[in-house]
Order: sequence, then structure tokens, then C-alpha cells
Amino acid sequence: MSHNQFIDYCMSGIAGLTPYVPGKPIETLERELGISHSVKLASNENPLGASPKVQAVIADNLSDLSRYPDGSAYRLCNALAKKHQCTADMITIGNGSNDVLDMIARVFLGIGKEAIFSQYAFAVYPISTQATGAQSRITPASNFGYDLDAVLDQINDKTAVIFIANPNNPTGTWLTGDALATFLSKVPSHIIVVIDEAYVEYVEQAEYSEATTWLHQYANLIVTRTFSKAYGLAGLRIGYSICHPDIANLINRVRQPFNANSLALLAAETALSDEEYIKQSVKTNQQGMKQMTEGLSQLGIDYIPSVGNFICAEMPQDAAAINQSLLERGVIVRPVANYGLTEHLRISIGLEQENQRFLDTLSDIIK
Ligand SMILES: *Cc1c(COP(=O)(O)O)cnc(C)c1O
Repeated sequence: MSHNQFIDYCMSGIAGLTPYVPGKPIETLERELGISHSVKLASNENPLGASPKVQAVIADNLSDLSRYPDGSAYRLCNALAKKHQCTADMITIGNGSNDVLDMIARVFLGIGKEAIFSQYAFAVYPISTQATGAQSRITPASNFGYDLDAVLDQINDKTAVIFIANPNNPTGTWLTGDALATFLSKVPSHIIVVIDEAYVEYVEQAEYSEATTWLHQYANLIVTRTFSKAYGLAGLRIGYSICHPDIANLINRVRQPFNANSLALLAAETALSDEEYIKQSVKTNQQGMKQMTEGLSQLGIDYIPSVGNFICAEMPQDAAAINQSLLERGVIVRPVANYGLTEHLRISIGLEQENQRFLDTLSDIIK
């Protein structure tokens, strides 16, 4: 990029930032290559689309678009408080959970402070950290996942926030409840621990614990959730955090008054009550994950075992070149070289025919 004439005048953290690179939208790829009938398995979206109940509630409420949304998100906060058996003052609504992660960084980080997270952790943590002028401490991964002892080792006087994704994206790795409970008991009580549970609905492992279990024990714990993945509302941008009311009170001080739009609030409330849709989504993912792992194995391709709705597969040849060939054949997956995973591609689990299209296309490319 050419020299930015204002670079010397922006906040120090911003000057060194590289923006988040999202999965390529289908429309963009098709415009660029002049192709059609592409499939997108790149952003861990729900392949079923939003639930019909959500679509109906949105259609019914279009006439209210001229009104500002409820800035306090009263109804959604109360529905979430009921779901999580907590009080509504423990919930903070975000424009996606990324918005909440960013607000947490603005409240607790800043110049002279540090955030800790693992190698291969979700890309938003370094961006939100650095934007405040704080430093990131990145601990080496163990089997592509978090090494919690390594995280504890990095705690120092400057540590203000620890970000943990469980399961983690892009690796799909996860931590047991026991490991997290021990970890939480060892973290000094003034350091904020964020446990990001964007994929919690998909996890079936008996040794997994939802971090909400420990909210009453640890006032420094923040759990984040999203409606973007299993709930199928990525395009509406809505997520939230649950934490001690004193922390929620601070986060709410930087929250934009109308950060979640009225249709997103309504959709989230409706999605919460549509248990059948979540069941169906989880089942579709289980079947798709089985199809994907079996298909990869048949091609002799290694992958990182994942409990999410995506999987990182190790390419037998140059991953960037394979990604390019997949794009040319209308299959969009996610390169993860920006995470330091230069040999892998991340594939979101789609519908049966989408997964098959990916597997067949990959087979064609590598043979
Ligand atoms: C997708 C994802 C999120 C959710 O982002 P939204 O802003 O809620 O769409 C959060 N954390 C991780 C680890 C994710 O992969």
C-alpha cells in the first residue's frame, strides 16, 4: 500500500494494525471470476439459513424501522437472563460478540497494559488489544490449542485481560471444564478473564463445561456468546456477554446507545425460543462433520479434530495454491496463513451437497 499521509497522527496502536480479513462473499467471487453456483464454506455460518420463525418476525416488523431500537434491549436481556439463570444487569448486548470483545478491550486495556491469548487464537483479540495501544502476549499452542499453564506463566503486573476461545476458532480445539476451573482459581482476581463461547452449542463432549457455571464464583469472569453461528443470524450482528453487574456496568459506559438494531433484537429473542431450530442445526453439523472427516481421511488428508462447525485440514500441497484452485472452481473456504497456519485451510461445515462439492473439488485438484 502507498504511504498513508496521516499515519504519524493516528493513535500508536492503530499505525501497526492489519485489518481483519473476512471470508470472501459469494457475490464478490462470482463477480471477480464471472462464475455462478458457488458454495461458501468460509465463515462458519449456519448452512440452514435463519429459522423460519425469525424470518417471519422480521417480515412482520418492517413498519417499525423508522423508530430507534430499545437501547436498553430490555426484552432480550430478560430473555437471556432467564436462559442463563442470572439477573438482567449481568447481560451486555453487542453488535455481534466482536463488538462486546472490543468494548471489553476499551474498558480494561490501553497503553502500558497487556492482554494474553494463545497462538492460533481468534483474530479479533490481537486487533482489539492493539487498537487500544495495549500489547499482546501470545503463548505457544499445545496441539494447536490453548496451553493454560503457558498462559499463567505470562501473567505479570501489566496483565489486564486474558482472552480464551472455547472452542477456539480457527482450530476447533477445546478445553475441559476441569482445566478451566483450575485455571480460573489461579488467575489473580483483578485480571479479566474472557471466555468466548461462540461455538458452545455444537460441543457435545461430556468433559466440556459452559463457563457460565463459574460466574457466581469469579467476579472477574466474562463469558461471551453470539447469535452468528448456531442461531444462524450472522448477517444481523448480535451477540452478548454475561458477567458480574459491576463489570457489565463499566462495559455499558462505552457501549453505543443503539448498538444493536431493532430487527436483530427481535430476531435474537425469537431465535432463543426456537429450540427445534438449534437441535436441527446441531444435528446437521454432526452429520456434516462426520461426512467431512471421513471424506478427508479417504483423501489421506490430516485435520485438527474440531468440536465446532468448521475444520482445519492440512493440505498435501501448497495451501494457497489449492485455495486459489478451489476459488476458480467456485468453492470458497478460508485460508488461515494469517494465523500462522500456512499449510491448513479452514472449511466450514455446510449442507451435505456443499460438503460433497468441496470434497470432490479438492480431490480433483490434488490428484
Ligand atoms: C465467529 C466468532 C465470534 C462471533 O462473532 P460475532 O461478532 O458475534 O459474529 C466470536 N468469537 C469467535 C471465536 C468466533 O469464531
